[in-house]
Amino acid sequence: MSQKIAVYPGSFDPVTNGHLDILSRALRIFDRIIVAVTTSAHKHPLFTVDERVEMLGRAVKPLKGASVERFDGLLVNYAKKKNAVAMIRGLRVVSDFEYEFQMALMNRHLSKKYHGAGSLEAVYLMPDEKFTYLSSTLVKEVARLGGGVESFVPDFVRLKLKEKFDMSRRDS
Ligand code: ADP
Repeated sequence: MSQKIAVYPGSFDPVTNGHLDILSRALRIFDRIIVAVTTSAHKHPLFTVDERVEMLGRAVKPLKGASVERFDGLLVNYAKKKNAVAMIRGLRVVSDFEYEFQMALMNRHLSKKYHGAGSLEAVYLMPDEKFTYLSSTLVKEVARLGGGVESFVPDFVRLKLKEKFDMSRRDS
């Protein structure tokens, strides 16, 4: 039987335990998940794509079936190239819903237009409650202000955040 492959796209700036919770759940449904790091700079990421890919690579190492890549361009085309049948996204709170709903329907439209109906489904997963208030943005803000983020990210990510903000404090 052919493998069921999904892509999990996002900025992952940086990867958090919430992302990893979603990934573990998705791996129970799919044989392979490709975590796809967006290269788009419009969000002014704190970490470069290389840094984000490197941190994710370390974080997913224990998770069988997960791999990490960068991607640019249309997600539907990238997913097709990878033979993925679904894209994974996480839903934390109601405020995620509106944007995710729009994005899912736009991707459905594009997917149908370029690759035929039903070629890519959006699969939304809910994290453990303890991650519902967690976002990369909040983690960066807490770390920037010198707060502890050890409950929210893998330890090497915590150190990378510290390094980044120590460096910017030195430079300012
Ligand atoms: P993007 O900029 O594409 O939203 P993110 O890295 O912020 O990229 O998030 C990637 C995906 O992971 C999104 O679907 C987001 O909703 C989900 N996600 C992020 N943080 C969490 C969390 N704490 N719990 C569950 N899902 C999350």
